[in-house]
Amino acid sequence: MEVRLAESAGFCFGVNRAMDKVSEQIRKADGNKKIYTYGPIIHNSEVVRDLKEKGVDIVESTDEFEKIRGQILIIRSHGVAKAVYDKAKDYGITVEDATCPFVSKIHDIVRKRGEEGWHVVIIGDATHPEVEGIVGWATGPVTVVNTEEEAETFSCNNNAKLCIVSQTTFNAQRFKHFVEIIKEKGYYTDVINTICNATAVRQSEAAEISMHADKMIVIGDPQSSNTKKLADICRSNCKDTYHIQTVRDLTGTDLQSGTCVGITAGASTPNHLIQEVLLYVRGI
Ligand code: SF4
Repeated sequence: MEVRLAESAGFCFGVNRAMDKVSEQIRKADGNKKIYTYGPIIHNSEVVRDLKEKGVDIVESTDEFEKIRGQILIIRSHGVAKAVYDKAKDYGITVEDATCPFVSKIHDIVRKRGEEGWHVVIIGDATHPEVEGIVGWATGPVTVVNTEEEAETFSCNNNAKLCIVSQTTFNAQRFKHFVEIIKEKGYYTDVINTICNATAVRQSEAAEISMHADKMIVIGDPQSSNTKKLADICRSNCKDTYHIQTVRDLTGTDLQSGTCVGITAGASTPNHLIQEVLLYVRGI
């Protein structure tokens, strides 16, 4: 039986960097300051549990800053609004910034273009923390567009110059489509494609492997939206697709019928979970 593991399975560059930052802080901890992350560092409950055992807790919003006055706060790869840094400063909180550089680049664009008088349009999900963070760097008018209908109904001052950016994980085809709809309205438009290709590469590799596999295993937290998306892609090509969290979830699963098992994993799946599954499947 052939076992194919996607090269792009697991942490992307930005998540790796954020995890390294947390490990570094745990290593440097001298017991005087407690470590917090702003939201879960990644969408993986196993990792979050492990970090909690090592003394790393989560704060969900700036409302909790009084409680963590003077402590250490790690900003995850999604980034946060400028107001979060400002408020952390007010509370004497030491910020360790693990915002992915690709996301920081969008913050810079949004801030600068706002100062230059552009109307910023962010193609993305307004409720996603990354987009909330990007909106929080706007220094002028800003609109978030997440659906075809929102693109069609978008309007602003006729003389506005539009700067369109994207959430890093947005689907490239939909981005292009929404941009075309908005451009047809005749505004002066500058489009900056800020989609990160880590997601696209992971998705296209999953599609390619699942097309040839008899069984497909997708490893990742059930709450992780990028893992769910991967599972959907694989399921559309391979009906025997299993979305699992750890190797334990494979107990009782028939992986022997067939000649090829494919494995991939979401952006928030740690490498050791992937390796455990790989060893198990190879053992069969
Ligand atoms: Fe950074 Fe891309 Fe990973 Fe997002 S998906 S954290 S932008 S590397």
